[in-house]
Amino acid sequence: MVRDFGRFVSKLEARQHGRPCTVTQLDKNTWQLGCEAGVPLRLSYRVHALDLTVRGAFLDRDRGFFNGTSLFLRAEGREHMPHRLMLGDLPEAWQVATAMPRLDSNSYGSADYDELVDHPFELGRFWRGQFEAAGVAHELVVTGALHNFDGDRLLAEAQRICEAQIHFWHGRPSLGCATRPAFERYVFLLNAVDHGNAGLEHRASTALMSSRHNLPARGAVGVTDGHARLLGLLSHEYFHAWNVKRMRPSELTTIDYTRENYTGLLWFFEGFTSYYDDLFLVRTGLLTPARYLRLLQTTVNRVARMPGRRLQGVAQASFDTWVKHALSSQEPNTPNMTASYYAEGSLIALALDLSLRRSAGGPSLDTLMRCLWLRSAGGPVREHDILDAVRELGGEALAASLAEWVHAPGELPLRELLSDFAVTWRDEPADGLAEALGLRTTVAARGGSHVTAVLRDGAAERAGISPGDEILAVQDLRVHALEDAASWVGQDEDCEILLARDGKIIKATARMPAADRLPRSCTLALRAEASHEALARRRQWLVR
Ligand SMILES: [Zn+2]
Repeated sequence: MVRDFGRFVSKLEARQHGRPCTVTQLDKNTWQLGCEAGVPLRLSYRVHALDLTVRGAFLDRDRGFFNGTSLFLRAEGREHMPHRLMLGDLPEAWQVATAMPRLDSNSYGSADYDELVDHPFELGRFWRGQFEAAGVAHELVVTGALHNFDGDRLLAEAQRICEAQIHFWHGRPSLGCATRPAFERYVFLLNAVDHGNAGLEHRASTALMSSRHNLPARGAVGVTDGHARLLGLLSHEYFHAWNVKRMRPSELTTIDYTRENYTGLLWFFEGFTSYYDDLFLVRTGLLTPARYLRLLQTTVNRVARMPGRRLQGVAQASFDTWVKHALSSQEPNTPNMTASYYAEGSLIALALDLSLRRSAGGPSLDTLMRCLWLRSAGGPVREHDILDAVRELGGEALAASLAEWVHAPGELPLRELLSDFAVTWRDEPADGLAEALGLRTTVAARGGSHVTAVLRDGAAERAGISPGDEILAVQDLRVHALEDAASWVGQDEDCEILLARDGKIIKATARMPAADRLPRSCTLALRAEASHEALARRRQWLVR
């Protein structure tokens, strides 16, 4: 998405020799200055900074955070020159965290504009800890943690993930094939908030946002679902340091900040990253294989509930993402309009990995990723580079399958593949009321069930229910969360729903599907009774 950060800029002034220069605005993000060549030019402007996400800039009395894209004007024609950033006086006891190389006590340097805006900064009073992974210095900075946050535990977990990923891309030193990551130092900037889960990757750091309740607490044992989500997020953004920040779609070799940069390859760069994020948690022993399968089954079921995937393949979804955002939950029609190159892309990676591994002594997706890394020299990749590598490792038929999986809407052969890895796939009718009706809802903070999406061809769509409706009652009984009403209506029966829309009360009748028409949910489980080969394959896949 083009973010138009220019909307936050005001009071732009330019001076030379202490005298003002003329400022002419040419478009929404370009200003032309009437100035003399070869004479220092001083610009000043204000930026409104109240963006709590990982992509913008934020400042209040307790905390500052910025991405350079939100703050720094780009001097056209001078992008390639070294840039120097100086921080002014900060409030007492505030610290600074960033991966941008430090020049002296309060200034930082970058080789060019791209690098300047690729190092976010965290400012304030925060928790910080360090570790080394494969000899590389890493820092973890956490803002907003609860008092019982177990920082040592999160450091140790992050270290395991980072070491495994460095070895994944560069080999183990013991095998004599070690190269080092392209970064000297890596920084995780984690903002722990009340509610949220998001990350943005950078060349030597990542900005993360997570619920503070997802952080490990001192004395806690086991990994909660929220904690697993945080570890998956950390693993995902770190993997991007290779897969998209360096190895990247050829269309994104250089980035034009002023307009959309189209690529059809996000199914690989986001989807395959999404496959590896949780996979590293099981390979490092942070999650058990059974727990990993539960995460996988959630993805399988989520993808199955996206009618848009029958309209377009993930390559087209990638191309369209500038206007049909794959991650957007605020667009109610997204699941009907587009496939998810994240979730479905991760299942394509799974199908490819298992297909490669199935052949005896076969290679794996790991082999393919390293092969692409070496061939691209950690740089631009085109679709045919990926297909060529698949052809060489897995044969012509597999390359043709991959092309079909990413371009044509259709089903992946996951059930058969998983069976060869001693994983059972059981299909059952979905038991939730929202699923039966083809709805997505949220429960508002003050109570009340709100419709966020109505899935195409579902019972709710036929009943005329619309995104934004509030569900007040089901079968004449008041509901707060829709699922409370799950047992009030049977299969193949009429479901009377009372709604509020635009301040008016509306009645709708939805026909509940018969048992054989209900959406299906899959359950994945480890199969104990399996052939020796299948069990061995599963170990190879999930255990390192
Ligand atoms: Zn990503």
